Amino acid sequence: CGIVGYVGAQSALDVVIAGLKRLEYRGYDSAGVAVLADGGLAAAKKAGKLLNLEKELTDRPLPSGSTGIGHTRWATHGGPTDANAHPHLDNAGRVAVVHNGIIENFAALRAELTERGHDLASETDTEVVAHLLAEEFSSCGELAEAMRLVCRRLHGAFTLVAVHADEPDVVVGARRNSPLVVGVGDGEAFLASDVAAFIAHTRSAIELGQDQVVELRRDGVTVTDFDGAPADVRSYHVDWDA
Ligand code: GLU
Repeated sequence: CGIVGYVGAQSALDVVIAGLKRLEYRGYDSAGVAVLADGGLAAAKKAGKLLNLEKELTDRPLPSGSTGIGHTRWATHGGPTDANAHPHLDNAGRVAVVHNGIIENFAALRAELTERGHDLASETDTEVVAHLLAEEFSSCGELAEAMRLVCRRLHGAFTLVAVHADEPDVVVGARRNSPLVVGVGDGEAFLASDVAAFIAHTRSAIELGQDQVVELRRDGVTVTDFDGAPADVRSYHVDWDA
């Protein structure tokens, strides 16, 4: 339902939680975050309000890092439980993904992954993406390329945002039939399902086009289509007050 991603110099957790709060008006049933820190990936997720997640983070703090993603979920596949909340991770716990929308061919992908020895921990359509990204990353070594390869295999409507512990300064997003906006700051960049999540930090935005993948780094943003061809990027100024 609500998606936020961040890479920069601030605490990713603070930026992501504040962004998710700005998206709360959309309604949701669970929330979660993942941050890259100390060469690894740490995640927390809880059914219920953001307050439940914040309490969890007080009880079990995550290490602080400056790359992170977050999600508020409106369940479509699998009930609103902690296990079904996003982010979803691969079995090695190196990749985390959040998702809005529905992956229509998830059952076939799930069967295929199980066959290859993956252990799926949730009932969601989303989790297959984490496992597929991990597989593709292990052969191409680049999260944006892994995302392009995976997106070409997905049917349905999706906004996806992911991080990988082996690329600690990168956040990758993709979209088909579901919105995703990039916020470009000074030495930092944001991704969100709605500009409201980041206008406290920057008013410079890029609307991602249909079937595009974006790679966010502190010093810039690269957009391609699902085949890797560079896409035209036009930034605009968000001039409304929120
Ligand atoms: N289909 C996904 C799920 O049920 C994403 C739902 C959403 O858009 O929040 O977990």
